[in-house]
Amino acid sequence: MAGLLSGLYGCRRSAGAEAGSGAFSAAGSGKLGVALVGLGKYSEEELAPALLETRACRLAGIVTGSPEKIGKWQRKYDIPDGNVYSYSDFDRIAENPDIDIVYVVLPNALHKEYTVRAAKAGKHVICEKPMAVSAAECEEMVAACKKAGKLLSIGYRMHFDPSTLLIRQLGENKTLGSFTSLTARDSQKMKSGQWRLDKALAGGGPLMDLGIYCVQASLYCAGELPVAVKARFGKIDDPEKFASVEQSIAFDLTFPSGLVAHCHSSYAEEENSLRIESDREWLEFSPAFSYSGLKGKTSQGKMNLPKVNQQALQMDDFARCVNEGTRSRVPGEMGLRDLKILEAIYEAAETGSEVKLKL
Ligand code: NAD
Repeated sequence: MAGLLSGLYGCRRSAGAEAGSGAFSAAGSGKLGVALVGLGKYSEEELAPALLETRACRLAGIVTGSPEKIGKWQRKYDIPDGNVYSYSDFDRIAENPDIDIVYVVLPNALHKEYTVRAAKAGKHVICEKPMAVSAAECEEMVAACKKAGKLLSIGYRMHFDPSTLLIRQLGENKTLGSFTSLTARDSQKMKSGQWRLDKALAGGGPLMDLGIYCVQASLYCAGELPVAVKARFGKIDDPEKFASVEQSIAFDLTFPSGLVAHCHSSYAEEENSLRIESDREWLEFSPAFSYSGLKGKTSQGKMNLPKVNQQALQMDDFARCVNEGTRSRVPGEMGLRDLKILEAIYEAAETGSEVKLKL
């Protein structure tokens, strides 16, 4: 295991170095400018600090509906007046050559509108997960970026974490044999009053927000697409709080190889784990989907996972894609695929029947 991990660490570092010091900065042309749309928790606590660590892009602009936040952000990140936008004058960003990438970090139901507006303004887009609240919206977003000739990527930060690189490599190389069983659980207690509990803004409950990590992990572990899904909603303890979205959901994804991924997500528990078994070995990550501090173990002992800044690696990798004109490893099409799966999971839970998937 240790040898495998150090091999992967080497891979990860070269990927990061490629992203951080790629053709753009090497050529001395400066960094790509990123504008964050929505200055909520994820922008403030994760993305903006990560943009201080990126080597191929930088925080150049902000788009906000909260004027009281502007001064603090401008001072902290040295953002000029001309790079500050409200939601209503956001389209003027088209005239700003200082902004290359728009990063949409708004409630899920607003992702489509701002991605389409950003593409029309001639900007490349990173959009947070879940990509939108329906597969139909995702199709529109992919089409808008394609029409504008701009790249679209989804905020699937786990693809830049060493644990994911390890799992993918083990799955592809069958180092441990074929995976025979997988369990993924991602749950967080949700306080009342959040847009995440409002279906109109969130598109759904914990499945949209957290269960999507279980879907993603199942697919990158399996290395293939699921063909069927079964699902069940859990009980509701607080009908007022969970008036519009599910409190919890359990679902099983079946893959062509026969692997079944057992997944669970809830807004009334704390869970964050991934367990994969093959006939030769087991691997367990807990936490499995956090920003940092992931812990992994196997029957042979603890893993020594390198520390990374997932968000900085992701944004640098996207800047590299923009500079080189290559597709992101987490493109809009992946977000669209996942919304199709999420819709099938909801259908299976609502009907109580297995839903076949043709992806
Ligand atoms: P948040 O509630 O902290 O911030 C949301 C921002 O959107 C706020 O600045 C708010 O003012 C603004 N906003 C604009 N219009 C709004 C409206 N009509 N209703 C409510 N807020 C409105 O949320 P967050 O945690 O920053 O999440 C934002 C997005 O980022 C979501 O799509 C979420 O799924 C995603 N996210 C991703 C990760 C990740 O690990 N990739 C982590 C957290 C959040």
